[in-house]
Amino acid sequence: MSIIRYKRILSTNAKAKALAEDSAPEWTVVVSDIQTHGKGRMGRKWESHKGGLWFSVILRPGILARSVPMLQFLASNATRRAVHERAGVQAWTKWPNDLVLDSGKLAGILVESKSEGDMVCFAVVGIGLNVNQRMGELPAGATSLYEVSRRKHRLNDLMEEIVQNMKKEYRRLKNPVEIFDEWWRNCVHRSRQVQVKTRSGVVKGMSSGIDLDGSLLVETGEPALEKLVEGTLRVLNDQSE
Ligand code: ADP
Repeated sequence: MSIIRYKRILSTNAKAKALAEDSAPEWTVVVSDIQTHGKGRMGRKWESHKGGLWFSVILRPGILARSVPMLQFLASNATRRAVHERAGVQAWTKWPNDLVLDSGKLAGILVESKSEGDMVCFAVVGIGLNVNQRMGELPAGATSLYEVSRRKHRLNDLMEEIVQNMKKEYRRLKNPVEIFDEWWRNCVHRSRQVQVKTRSGVVKGMSSGIDLDGSLLVETGEPALEKLVEGTLRVLNDQSE
């Protein structure tokens, strides 16, 4: 693994994509103390102040373009396990790309890729993990490892553990059922009532599974099962909402 370090960068994903275009090998990692233009989904901003772990990994997985969402689930599992093993914090996965704790959002993952025909040429897996920031340094609805464990954590150890976990999981891309199973076992909204805002409206119902293409299955009753490929999810309080 070759690591390229910055103190400040616009976006680690943007830099990793440029390097990948320039034939950088698989498992090249770009990490920065600060991102001034960190990205979330759909052009949203990812706040990346000092104290958090902001990095992107270049992959050349040789998978079909339509299988790219698997990488997001693989990276969520790898990050969730590293946070547990290194920091002793038990986080939950949340569809499509977050890790959460009861107190808020801990991490976000953004996968970007380039394909030729049906095949992926490269993918860049961006991981943003709130580590040592304090409450006042976090956006609304966010939390950090420091906030829950009350101690500082070494960013580099966490990053290396996450990348090692990704490497271990890599062979599972051939049989992604295991990736999705692990993700779903640790999902905060497994069999719970959810509300998902999609581009075409709001869907409410019981979140009942993840399909092999990464879409969320929601039992609404009308029709019985909706399959959502994108959206922003909120877990509802089972009784009152
Ligand atoms: P979503 O939460 O809908 O999955 P994204 O994954 O695209 O959205 O992440 C962007 C959103 O995450 C922002 O609109 C903001 O609400 C929130 N956010 C931004 N920076 C952070 C951060 N460091 N920690 C937690 N949440 C953040």
